[in-house]
Amino acid sequence: MKIGFIGLGNMGGPMAANLAKAGHDVTGFDMADVAIDGVTMAASGAEAATGADVVITMLPNGNILRAVANEVIPAMSKGAALVDCSTVDVDSARAVAAQAAEAGLLAVDAPVSGGIGGAAGGTLTFMAGGSAEAFAKAEPLFDIMGQKAVHCGESGAGQAAKICNNMILGVTMIATCEAFALADKLGLDRQKMFDVVSTSSGYSWTMNAYCPAPGVGPTSPADNDYKPGFASELMLKDLRLSQQAAESADADTPMGKIATALYEQFVESEDGLGTDFSAMLPRFEKRSRET
Ligand code: NAD
Repeated sequence: MKIGFIGLGNMGGPMAANLAKAGHDVTGFDMADVAIDGVTMAASGAEAATGADVVITMLPNGNILRAVANEVIPAMSKGAALVDCSTVDVDSARAVAAQAAEAGLLAVDAPVSGGIGGAAGGTLTFMAGGSAEAFAKAEPLFDIMGQKAVHCGESGAGQAAKICNNMILGVTMIATCEAFALADKLGLDRQKMFDVVSTSSGYSWTMNAYCPAPGVGPTSPADNDYKPGFASELMLKDLRLSQQAAESADADTPMGKIATALYEQFVESEDGLGTDFSAMLPRFEKRSRET
């Protein structure tokens, strides 16, 4: 396939390289001056999109996605697909999909989980929204860049799945960390805490697979001085998207709201910026009930 790839950062760069390695003809564009193995660089997004069967975007946020879509949609051929893999707000995903449909294009919102390691290793999970025809066109590319793609429903459903998942993740990480900090103060050994909770009804992915306590459970960023991993500021971005979606859908999400406020405080007023999102545990350790 002829593929245009716009946004060749930490995630997009290795994803585009994997498509080129699999034999696709990939033309890329990024505002920054980057070079990616096997990818021909274009001078603009429109140039990268011209003549492409599929245009993939991997950008920082919904406003940038909307601006890039305004530029590339007119350059795309009818029947081509616009596949956005960025994590953006549901409203932007739906607006861009509607704009693409009006221009006779297929559109898929397909945010990912799996992080930079998954992008490099071709093991991402894609959660996709769009028509069956649009999903079918993008699926062979998901198979190269990832290990699993779930068609979640119509446009916006991929972003909805992503932010609901990450809202659970943020809330659960906080719950796991505050429970460890309480256990410390109660004199409970962390390993014993893990042994019990990981096999009891308090178990979760954050406890069992990504334990925030160093030296306990499987190897995780906690064992590497809380270097990300999944950075606290990216968790904050996704939590904010969950609250933006909750506002626009009139959904009551009290735990998501508190998690957003806590990560905001951690990243913006404390020392959370640049740390893994599990560094909530040392944060709670340092605090007492009234602080
Ligand atoms: P990044 O900042 O490394 O990459 C974004 C790239 O987009 C940059 O290279 C930037 O120069 C480029 N860009 C910005 N505006 C542009 C424009 N107008 N035209 C062309 N290029 C432009 O970010 P990333 O870590 O690669 O993340 C990309 C997306 O993936 C984000 O939406 C993020 O939330 C999501 N995501 C990231 C991770 C992760 O672990 N990094 C995991 C899952 C999802």
